[in-house]
Amino acid sequence: MDKQPIKRVVIAGGGTAGWMAAAAFSKLLGKNLTVSLIESDDIPTVGVGEATIPTLHIFHRLLGINEQEFMAATNATFKLGIKFENWKAQGEDYIHSFGFLGQGCWAAGFQHFWLKGKQKGLVTQIGDYVPEHLACREGRFAVLANQEQNHAYHLDAGLYAQFLRKMAEQHGCKRIEGNIQAVNLNEESGDISSLSLASGELVEGDLFIDCTGFRALLIEQALHTGFEDWSHWLPCDSAVAVQTTAKPNPVPYTRSIARDAGWQWRIPLQNRTGNGLVFCSKYMSDEQAKAALLANVEGETLNEPRVIKYKTGTRRKHWNKNCIAVGLSSGFIEPLESTGIHLFQRAIVRLMLMFPSNGIEQADVDEFNTQSRADVEDIKDFIILHYHQTERTDTPFWRYCKSMPIPDTLTHRMELFAGTGKVFKKAEELFGETSWIQVMLGQGIMPKQYHPIVDMMSDDELQRFLDNIKKNVKRKVSNWPDVNDFIRHYCQTKIAN
Ligand SMILES: Cc1cc2nc3c(=O)[nH]c(=O)nc-3n(C[C@H](O)[C@H](O)[C@H](O)COP(=O)(O)OP(=O)(O)OC[C@H]3O[C@@H](n4cnc5c(N)ncnc54)[C@H](O)[C@@H]3O)c2cc1C
Repeated sequence: MDKQPIKRVVIAGGGTAGWMAAAAFSKLLGKNLTVSLIESDDIPTVGVGEATIPTLHIFHRLLGINEQEFMAATNATFKLGIKFENWKAQGEDYIHSFGFLGQGCWAAGFQHFWLKGKQKGLVTQIGDYVPEHLACREGRFAVLANQEQNHAYHLDAGLYAQFLRKMAEQHGCKRIEGNIQAVNLNEESGDISSLSLASGELVEGDLFIDCTGFRALLIEQALHTGFEDWSHWLPCDSAVAVQTTAKPNPVPYTRSIARDAGWQWRIPLQNRTGNGLVFCSKYMSDEQAKAALLANVEGETLNEPRVIKYKTGTRRKHWNKNCIAVGLSSGFIEPLESTGIHLFQRAIVRLMLMFPSNGIEQADVDEFNTQSRADVEDIKDFIILHYHQTERTDTPFWRYCKSMPIPDTLTHRMELFAGTGKVFKKAEELFGETSWIQVMLGQGIMPKQYHPIVDMMSDDELQRFLDNIKKNVKRKVSNWPDVNDFIRHYCQTKIAN
């Protein structure tokens, strides 16, 4: 049988994932395709995905999105990293910043030079050798044409979806308001042929993108693809979120504060602050979580706290038949390192690279699934590291995290670093050496050794080398203006002050 050419793309769901997919497909492939998106005003979006990572630039560049316009439209602020408070031990904190650590050599990364320097008493904290880290602490920021800046955003998820919707509709995406009541399958192939709406309308398509969030209406409820549960490694399964009035002069990083049975986020936008408590329902009830969150917010609350339930894990296949899951329908790791939107964009771009215009090839599907799987596996290990590598034993939750078995791949990374100071990034892995090093050190792993090539330098040379890097970082950052002055000027919207 001839393969069915793909001309009609139907996106089910209009949250962050749905509108990201709609904007990308209509703008970049819209001349060859009809793109429609179905969403229901009766079914709310999750709406709390508000912290991003620097890879969002790649997506925005692809879509020709102007940073100033986007930031003004979404009340965005700059994000240079995440501050982890109470994770290693109560009262201790560290920053996982974007950017790159000092300068290494062909044989050994910068951490080896820093490790010897530490043994000799020649260094200060590792973050003094990363511009973005220092800028987090000093509240400075600039977008400069001649300097590589690693930054991300805190944004209003609802406004971001609206911003992308406008772009998608301008490029021909048809929005259909309606509640999907049935997913109709082709009896012979088992492919999805159409979606039936409550209104009686039938929406037919060749390729369906499931962006229905945790419901996973197409990929799971209709196609029974299966889910791999990771909650034994990532036991938090609930979040409660609330918005508060903006704090004057917000910090350019997300705050992640470990609590008795999970952690709390604080995400500063221009006009308000997003707050949430991620928690494990085995150790904390919804009511306790609401009370714990409300006891730890600053400013006036702007809405009622809302509880969201989830399960960490991944869909066994992200592409099954003629359906691709993008967004929470494909699985969820958890928001600790703000990787959700990044994974959505990876799936969208990957689908474009493998777009089956002349009909679906199983080899494309298999490749897509292999790559998607690798993405989430590596991120999962990185997140587990934060929970497991802790000195905390003060609550049953932390005792569980500290003693739980972890994936062998993570054990290997931790042992390698602890024993030798070495860290290797996999080819397509999201988090690079600087990220792993900052979090492993921050969580309390101090390597026993450094690479012997460092001993080629005398102590004086090492001191000069380290001081020089630190001085350059300081000089660079001291030239950047105050981050909030910069936002006021750059985005031309009002920031609380
Ligand atoms: C607590 C929490 C915090 C998060 N924080 C971050 C973060 O900081 N950074 C980050 O990158 N990611 C984060 N995420 C992940 C993710 O970015 C957001 O949750 C994101 O908003 C989810 O988008 P979505 O489009 O997949 O799902 P949803 O927002 O749930 O959207 C689903 C859409 O499907 C529609 N729909 C569902 N059923 C039907 C139906 N029957 N008929 C018609 N339409 C239907 C709904 O109307 C809606 O439009 C977080 C997730 C959670 C749970």
